[in-house]
Order: sequence, then structure tokens, then C-alpha cells
Amino acid sequence: MKTRASARFLAVVIAVAGCSSDGGNKSSGTSEVAVDLFIDASGVRIERVYSSSQFPLAKFHNHQNNLVYELVDDSGGRIVAGQVPDWRMAYTEAMADGTLSYATQRLGWGGGSIRLPAQAGTLVVRDPATRAELGRAAFNPTIGRIRQALANDDDILGAPVEFSTDGDANQAVDLLFLGDGFTEDQLPQFEEASHNLFNAFIAAHYYNFFNARFNGWTQNVRSRETGIDDSDNAVAKDTAFDTGMGMGDLRRCVFPTTSEGQALARKLGQDAGADVVIIISNTTEYGGCASNGLFAVTMDANGPEIVSHELGHALFNLADEYDVGASPPCAHDSSQPNVTNHGTADTVPWADLVTASEFPTPAGSGGVGAFEGAGYCPQGMFRPEDNCLMRSLGTPFCAVCAREVNRFFDGLAPPTDPGDGDECPAEWYDDGICDPCLGDDPDCVDICDYSDTCDTDWGEDCNNCEADCGSCNTDPAACGDGICDGAENDGNCGQDCGCAALGQCDGVAPTGCWCDTSCADWGDCCADIDVCGF
Ligand SMILES: [Zn+2]
Repeated sequence: MKTRASARFLAVVIAVAGCSSDGGNKSSGTSEVAVDLFIDASGVRIERVYSSSQFPLAKFHNHQNNLVYELVDDSGGRIVAGQVPDWRMAYTEAMADGTLSYATQRLGWGGGSIRLPAQAGTLVVRDPATRAELGRAAFNPTIGRIRQALANDDDILGAPVEFSTDGDANQAVDLLFLGDGFTEDQLPQFEEASHNLFNAFIAAHYYNFFNARFNGWTQNVRSRETGIDDSDNAVAKDTAFDTGMGMGDLRRCVFPTTSEGQALARKLGQDAGADVVIIISNTTEYGGCASNGLFAVTMDANGPEIVSHELGHALFNLADEYDVGASPPCAHDSSQPNVTNHGTADTVPWADLVTASEFPTPAGSGGVGAFEGAGYCPQGMFRPEDNCLMRSLGTPFCAVCAREVNRFFDGLAPPTDPGDGDECPAEWYDDGICDPCLGDDPDCVDICDYSDTCDTDWGEDCNNCEADCGSCNTDPAACGDGICDGAENDGNCGQDCGCAALGQCDGVAPTGCWCDTSCADWGDCCADIDVCGF
């Protein structure tokens, strides 16, 4: 499977190189630029095109529901295809009774960053489950193209202010704090809260060794009213970023409640060159939520702990080590460094750090071993130490996670040629973003190009490209064949079309109905939602 994908991908790269006129010194040809996108019900917008040397560091890794994107040229040929976490979802984690858990909230809109070859074309974004087109936008690779400002600039007061000047901007992580629900005369309270949160998290756990590698910034933005929305209690406030408490079971997911609010926060982050944007919402109730480099926290005292843990995901690619959550497939291989389905001394990815002698290592023991229970799974997945910041708040990073922090900062060198967008560093390999300039990046996905021609040379077949190659299914009425077709729907054939087809209850089913904890609120649950057991 992987071999075929690589072979096909090579063909794509060759096509790109053939079109390249830059005469560059890389065997694979074209340089890349960074692109910020925003997606909502009206489609896809390209917000900004800029040098890949300024690509934001933060990514919030998602376990499922990746959006698929492709760049196609004027004749419909695919230049590149990749996938990114579904930006329309937000993630929240919370500690209750000593245990962390996570939940997802569907927003229906969101933004994030990709890199694309510097080649004009059309960018198409597709739904992860149905491959239906969510939107397309003309792509012009000219650096500096940016949309009109979104908001009334009257509310944006001055420029971003750096309050911590220890770090070299090129070798540090830049965190931008924004306040929501602070009126103009309350902005000093926002600034104080930002400083306190920043100073608390860089003093704790393992971050204290790297506190000079974080820069803190504030940007004053005035809200018209104090506090934030709380729709469960019919409270609506006129604030800069429209944050609000989540609804019902997801009350703790504090996040922008409108696409405009989220887009403004992202834009200010781009303008400031921030790697991570943190909105502080003006309420003391516990809560926070994250989506792709943007997150919101409240004034609750747990803020620094939440930020510490979330940056473990966003910067260091660390997985959650707790064993409760949704219903994921357990015992799967993990690409993240601190969770694995291998449970012996020789096979764990951290074998060189092992000190324990018993495998699986009993709970409560010290040292580095393989402790069963990790990655939302009580069985079949292992973590390196009994406890870690990625398992419960208020805990230091374990040795394996600490090593990832070291590696991250070791790799954070200044760009060799800032501004020309022409670098193609080795760190881009397998980092979650498809980079054709590397030639064999596994982040690039082999997907159907919807050209109406079944390109068997490229590996398209009825299994992976029904649109071009036709259905493999000779009996469209056969419920249980894994293909939702014929007269099947989520009501009469859940195993092909509904929640039962997903294998995990946290996303959209083949027919477009939903299987998540908020589908009842949205009124779009599949008929067989009961199989999810919410
Ligand atoms: Zn987490």
C-alpha cells in the first residue's frame, strides 16, 4: 500500500518539477510557500500567503477526521495532495476526580496552515469521510497576498507588545495572548492575567529549563461588554472574539462561537508572527478548548497547567497518556513518541531509556518501562512512566516526553535564508504537512483525483477512487459490504452508511449524518446513533 502510494507520488513530483522554471538546486524542483486557510459554510478562503520560513510551529494533532486538500493546475492535474486535522473541530480536556479526559466540539468552521508548492492553481478542500468538496479557492503563490482586515480596527488598540524579551525570535516560540470580554478599562487586568499565566507555566515542570525559549506577547483588543457568552444560561455578550461557554456536556469548551471571532484571533496571530495564540476569556469558571494553534482558556487557576499540557500536543507532538475518552481503536500503532502498542523492553520506542525489569510494568512502580493504559485505551496501549504531564495535570513530563522537548528546541534553529520561502528542511519530513519538495514525504496522501479518468498508472482503483474507476461492488443492494450505495442509508443499513460504519463514534458517517456527542444539539444524528452508546 505504501509502496504504491510512493510510486504514484513520485509521478506527481516529476510533473511538478517539469513545470518548474526556477532552476532550483533541489532534485524535486519547486519551492514552497506557507498558506493560511479558513473554512466555513460558505467555502474555503485563502487568508494569507507567506514565506515558509515563518510557518507556525503549533499543530494540534487530531486522531481522526482529517480534511483532504489538493492543489490542481489549470488542466485539472493534481500538483499535490495532503491532509490536515479537521479545522472545524475544537478539542477540550478537563481534569475531574484526578483523571483527565477529552471531548470534541463541532464548530462548523475553522482555520489553519499548510505549505504548498509555489505554483498557481486551484486549492480544493474535501470532507474527510465523504470526499465531498467543501470549497475551492484560486491559489496565487505570490508572497504577501493577504485578505482585507476582518474587524473594525477601532477595537484593536496599538501593536502587539512583547513582555518577555529573553528569546531570539527565530529560536523561540512566540505566544500571543488576546483578551476577550475585557472592556477598555479592564485591559490592564487582561495584561496582568497574561503575564501571570505565562510566568507560571514557564516556571513549572520541565518548561523551566527552556523559559528563555518562549516569548510572550499581548495584543490589546477592546470588548464592548464584560464577560463571555453562556448560551445555556441565555447570556450573550458583545465581545471582541465572541468566546462563550460550550453547550450542555461541553460547557468547559470555551472557544469563539462565531467564525468571525476565530478568524480575527488567527489574523492577529499572523500579524504578530505568533506560533500559538491564546485567548484569555474573562470568566473565572473552569474551561478551555483548542483548535489548530489557537486556544482559549479562562481566568481559572488551572490555566497554566492546561497551557503546559496543551503545548505538549501543539509543539512536541506528544500524545495523551490517559486511558479514558472516546472510543478509539485500541492497540493501533502510534506515530507519537510517548504512546505505543508495543509492551516489551525491546520493542517500546523508548527502549534506550528503559530502567524497569518487569513488562508490562506494574502501576505504581518507578522508572521507565511500559505501563499499560494510554492513548484513551485502558488496554493494548502503553506509556513510558507511571505518571506524566500528558496523563494528569500538575505532574512533570516523564523522561520520554522531556526528551521530545529537548529535541524540539535542539531543532529550532534560525532559518538559513529567511524570507525567500525556498528552504526544504529535513524536519518537514513526516511532520503532518505534505511537502513535495522532499520527494518522498509520507504526509502526502494518495487520493483519488476526481478527473473522471481511472488512472491505473497512478494506482487508482475501485477501492480508493470509486468516482473515477466505478464501484468494486457488483451488488449495490448488499448491506454489509462496506460500501454505502444503492438504496442504502443510515436508517436501513447503518453498518455501511451510519455510525456503525465509522468504527469509532466521533465524526461524520458516509451518508453525511453525524455520530458525535453534539449531533443531538445540531439535529443531524444518524439513525443508528445508539450504537455509539453515548
Ligand atoms: Zn491532552
